[in-house]
Amino acid sequence: MSINVGIIGTGAIGREHIKRINNKVQGAQVVAVTDINAEVAKKIAKDIGATFFETGEELIASDKVDAVVVTSWDPTHEHYVLETIKHGKYVFCEKPLATESEGCRRIVDAEIEYGKKLVQVGFMRRYDKGYIELKNMITSKKYGEPLMLHCAHRNPSANENYTTPMAVSQTAIHEIDVLRWLLDEDYASVQMLLPKQTSNTHENLKDPQFIIFETKSGVTIDLEVFVNCRFGYDIKCDVVCETAEFGLTDPAFTKVKAEEKNYTRISPDWQTRFMDAYDYEFQLWINSVISGELTGPTAWDGYVASITMAACHEARETGKKVNIELDERPALYC
Ligand code: NAP
Repeated sequence: MSINVGIIGTGAIGREHIKRINNKVQGAQVVAVTDINAEVAKKIAKDIGATFFETGEELIASDKVDAVVVTSWDPTHEHYVLETIKHGKYVFCEKPLATESEGCRRIVDAEIEYGKKLVQVGFMRRYDKGYIELKNMITSKKYGEPLMLHCAHRNPSANENYTTPMAVSQTAIHEIDVLRWLLDEDYASVQMLLPKQTSNTHENLKDPQFIIFETKSGVTIDLEVFVNCRFGYDIKCDVVCETAEFGLTDPAFTKVKAEEKNYTRISPDWQTRFMDAYDYEFQLWINSVISGELTGPTAWDGYVASITMAACHEARETGKKVNIELDERPALYC
């Protein structure tokens, strides 16, 4: 069996996912595309032999489309996801699920009303081999309970449009999901600190930012977000357990010994660092659509991320520790 996918949003990551679905993974093909920028989408449709639709609503409703991928601008996600649920089709939505937690909750409620999970959110860190190994080690309890996590999310540079809240909503959002998944528990509270600022930032961006989460069982997580670090795209996650520490390495690049130095490369960007994770994420999503049972990050995970991000913003603005209060988890997501 092979599924017919419609893509809403043929920008940077939409085009990556089209290539991924058509050329890299098995079991699906892109048959329909749309974008507010019609000229670009029409050209892509022609290049890949897909149908161009004037609107996302028409694409979702079309009999040609079995499942939908939403890769349009953040504020459009909620509408397209709700529309797809109305048609009882599976939808993969890039993060964020919605720009506000109320929007995420509306999606959760729509799914509950439909009575089945249809939504997967694009939290791709869960598909990275390194994080999967960390999760297996934590779950095995071989080294006792996890006590502390030391994490960092560093980008070489951020442009003038990237502002202070985006360090959480565009960047830390990935850690917010994956660390909770690693530990298999929710956050209880968050604090934020603004360390000494880099001279490489601009007036609308506080950089770096330092986030401290405490989980319900008391695990402490420190997360540095530093988006003008200049030296590369660098992701750290070290887990301190009762009798061991283990953590991520960069994916293996070549080791170089030269000029009295011994070094490995740092990834230049997130595409290079997590390419394999995106491929694996889509292969498993397609497999689960074919099998009729989604296994990836849910609308509830999108809701939790959104509530957590709002608490981070409050913690940064007030300088206080903020409790993270979630609605009761609905049975559909237990
Ligand atoms: P992008 O290059 O700006 O692409 C977004 C596309 O959506 C643009 O072509 C835009 O058209 C189009 N669009 C805007 N409103 C639309 C609407 N109402 N209907 C249909 N299309 C519409 O952005 P991107 O980097 O690809 O990001 C797209 C989404 O993926 C974002 O939500 C982002 O957060 C997410 N993302 C996730 C990851 C990840 O690691 N999981 C990585 C990157 C991006 P115009 O250009 O004409 O506005």
